[in-house]
Amino acid sequence: MRTAMKDLENLIEDQGLKLFANIRSRKDGLLDKDYWQGKLIDWATKDLSFKIDLFRLVDVLPSLYDNNLLNKHIKEYLLKDERDLPLFLTTALKASGFSFAKNISSAIFKKNVLAMAERFILGESLKEAEAKILKIYSEGFSSTIDLLGEACLSEKEAENYFFLYKDLIEKLPKIINGMPNISIKLTSLSSKLKPESLDYSVDLLQEKIFYLIDLAKKNNCFINFDTENFTYKNITYDLFIKTILHDSYKDWPHLGIVLQSYLKDSAKDFLRLLEAAKKRKTPFTVRLVKGAYYDYEVVRSDRFGYPCPVFAQKSQTDLCYEDLSRKLIDNAQHLKPAFASHNLRSLAHALVYAEEKNLKKQEIEIQMLYGMAEKERYALKEEGVSVRLYAPIGNLMVGMSYLVRRLLENTSQLSFVRLAQSPLENPAKLLQKPLLAQETKEELDNSFNNAPNIEFSYRENQEKIAAVIKQIKQNFPIIVNPVINGEEKKGGNYYINYCPSYQELIISKINFAKQNDADLAMESAYNSFSLMQNLSINKRCENLYNLANILEKEKLYFISLLVWELGKNFLEAESEVLEAIDFCNFYADMAKKHLFPKKILSKKGEENTLYLHPKGPAAIIAPWNFPLAILCGMSVGAYVAGNPVILKPAKQANGVGFSLFKAMLNAGFLKEAVHFLPGFGEDIGKYLVNHPKIKIICFTGSKDVGLAIMQKAYDKKVMAEMGGKNAIIVDEDADQDEAIRGILQSTYGFQGQKCSASSRLILINNPHQEKFLARLMEAAKSIKIGASDRLENFMGPVIDKEAFLRLKEQISLLEQDNGVEILYKSKELSGGLFIPIIMAKINDQNHYLFQKELFGPILCIYIAQDLDDAIKAANNSQYALTFGFYSRSPQNIQKVTHNIEAGNIYINQKITGAIVARQPFGGFKMSGTSVKAGGEDYLYHFVHQVAVSENTSRQGVTPEVSV
Ligand code: NAD
Repeated sequence: MRTAMKDLENLIEDQGLKLFANIRSRKDGLLDKDYWQGKLIDWATKDLSFKIDLFRLVDVLPSLYDNNLLNKHIKEYLLKDERDLPLFLTTALKASGFSFAKNISSAIFKKNVLAMAERFILGESLKEAEAKILKIYSEGFSSTIDLLGEACLSEKEAENYFFLYKDLIEKLPKIINGMPNISIKLTSLSSKLKPESLDYSVDLLQEKIFYLIDLAKKNNCFINFDTENFTYKNITYDLFIKTILHDSYKDWPHLGIVLQSYLKDSAKDFLRLLEAAKKRKTPFTVRLVKGAYYDYEVVRSDRFGYPCPVFAQKSQTDLCYEDLSRKLIDNAQHLKPAFASHNLRSLAHALVYAEEKNLKKQEIEIQMLYGMAEKERYALKEEGVSVRLYAPIGNLMVGMSYLVRRLLENTSQLSFVRLAQSPLENPAKLLQKPLLAQETKEELDNSFNNAPNIEFSYRENQEKIAAVIKQIKQNFPIIVNPVINGEEKKGGNYYINYCPSYQELIISKINFAKQNDADLAMESAYNSFSLMQNLSINKRCENLYNLANILEKEKLYFISLLVWELGKNFLEAESEVLEAIDFCNFYADMAKKHLFPKKILSKKGEENTLYLHPKGPAAIIAPWNFPLAILCGMSVGAYVAGNPVILKPAKQANGVGFSLFKAMLNAGFLKEAVHFLPGFGEDIGKYLVNHPKIKIICFTGSKDVGLAIMQKAYDKKVMAEMGGKNAIIVDEDADQDEAIRGILQSTYGFQGQKCSASSRLILINNPHQEKFLARLMEAAKSIKIGASDRLENFMGPVIDKEAFLRLKEQISLLEQDNGVEILYKSKELSGGLFIPIIMAKINDQNHYLFQKELFGPILCIYIAQDLDDAIKAANNSQYALTFGFYSRSPQNIQKVTHNIEAGNIYINQKITGAIVARQPFGGFKMSGTSVKAGGEDYLYHFVHQVAVSENTSRQGVTPEVSV
């Protein structure tokens, strides 16, 4: 008979209270207040800002190679002027200020942090871990062993992890009496995984995983597939299911996977596993967890605009955990449940429900992290449940991020572990059924919302984009004509544009505009000025919002077109479409905020108003590298401010430009005020910018053309956004994993053909630098180059034959240059216009490789003596566009922020892909005219500000005075 829910709750409480009584009868152990570390943690629990600083200090510790550097960081993080530290800490830490005690204090700090890490990590190697493993088993627990390490950035590193796992599988059985259990992280087995290309990623891992499982079968080991952050979940599940259904493994029961209850998808994930289990007939293990990457997932979705994959409320996760616990227990004949949690309510619920369902104690398992919730695990063991400890092996220093996660868990306000330790907390309350918080009304958020990204780690989204990429190929070539007053001008000699990935594929045929087309467009634009003025601001904004909606609806089409015409990979293409959408929405919002007449300070008898009047027809001259976002942003900015616009896209990207233009007409833009003139820059572009009726020139492109335009356009408003030679400095204490990922993304994303791309890497001479460079080179080998219509390729071809030949020649010159040391050159590829990745070192900052914008996948590396020298080198450029700094020193970050010459400075992140409203984009020096695209004041550049001051007194009658 099924026990009623109410009775079940009583049983859970009884079970939980019993466990609590046991726990509270035990002596304090881990991180208790007797230890120095315990005190540190206790303080961190009370003071949030101290906690953050302390954990940041722990995080940077591995890179602090000497005591001076360690002291500097201790001071910067912990000894802030405004901070009141307890005496025990101040004495210990302040000692670092005295030179005689310098080494002692920092050494003590490091020793204590390492000692903390030792509580959660078994040891640096299996040999070192052996004694602790044996102790675990001798006390009646079992374990699952996990390997800690740096992020896997190259195939060399992946190989190393593979051998470590292999070694574990071979050696653990000799240590453990019984079946060893090993938890594998798939991201450590390949540096080439692409969550947005599932089949490709599964193929990359399959051989290695099958090898390891074969070995595990031979050595009688259990293999668990760990889950990590959400992006990789589908790879893990796809590979797991493929494995368990494979003929060689379908009868092998000793395999397991993780189910994360904080995921909104977890109920579906469960069903997938159940279905597979029924199909193969032999049960496998499912470790139910809450999920360890909550903060990461929330930040990723909020910052980068992905749908948030995790529940907003902790209680939703807890309830989902209980729901999935029951489902697992109900299906125990297919799936062997393992409940991993430190939350006694969750565990008591599972234990009670399992008993209700007549499951024997040995049919379920509880799992806990080694070093956490020590008292709980003894209490559970005494209940006769088998408890398995998740225990990592790895370098203590490298394991700092693991330590930080454990410390966070121990100090979180919501953590059960922490609450359970506190004598102030009432156990019965902690054991109550999780309660959903009242649905709070969505807080009204007036801030700008950027267009959301598509979650491409889902197979269905991959299939959708792949289908559209394939399908639009049928419509090529696109026939592009000038459009004046809404009328297409057909005919003439068509210029042919080929696909950069497949040179034989024609993408577009373009009927270039002639001078008389330009004259007609000019005339119409000029005459439409008064029509535009009759168009209210709100109406113009509506046009922009409509355009944003069309782009949103046609997102997959535009992504695909960018893939074919430009050779952008589809993720880069998606960012560009999103940016175009953001420009429309943001500039419309800004028009409403800023462009209406404003009352300004007035005294009695006067009324003062500021009007913002459009300047007149605008020539929009765009580059080929962002043919949608830049062309769109400049055009809609000028238009919403009341100016007629003539769009002149770059010759390489007319298909995109034309599609955008048609979308503008569909969005209701006034046809007399928007015109489309495809053509050569030196011909129709030049004619336009020099035309006397043009009042605004919105140019984005190369320095030479921009300067030439500026020199002549003395009677016009010129906004010229030009090139860059952008630097990234890597500080001594930088997070290597993060820096390497950021450098590769910033340098080789879209083949280095972004004005914001990094092309100079400045390293600071230090003992880590050799290793850093070696890792960077190895990591670059994992960049997949190839045709852009393939989702798995990261780097595609360069834009056209001209760029291809120029870059080829450039590379051969570099190879012959004695002042240049080529550190890495990737393999040459044939087929499309593919240029290899180049990394080269120079000593002379005046070398053209350090100075000239090459606009390709070429990185110039320079070693500076110290940070001052690095800043000097970064500023030694005629450009000032973007800049990146990887550092974990608050003081150095401040220094760089104030001394670097660049319009956009990025700290600890990639330097490309500026986001509208959040990272207003544009540089100075030879990079541009300090205009910030996507910034609050952008629209002011398109208007004259007219101050009207009216004397409101008539014959002594003054509105404010006369009554
Ligand atoms: P480009 O200067 O060759 O061409 C840009 C545009 O100007 C094209 O539409 C072209 O047809 C037109 N043009 C060329 N000669 C002209 C002339 N004499 N008069 C009027 N128009 C003329 O640049 P590109 O190769 O298309 O783009 C790459 C360059 O753009 C790089 O230098 C890159 O750094 C820069 N860029 C800068 C930004 C930024 O925001 N600062 C953004 C993207 C690209």
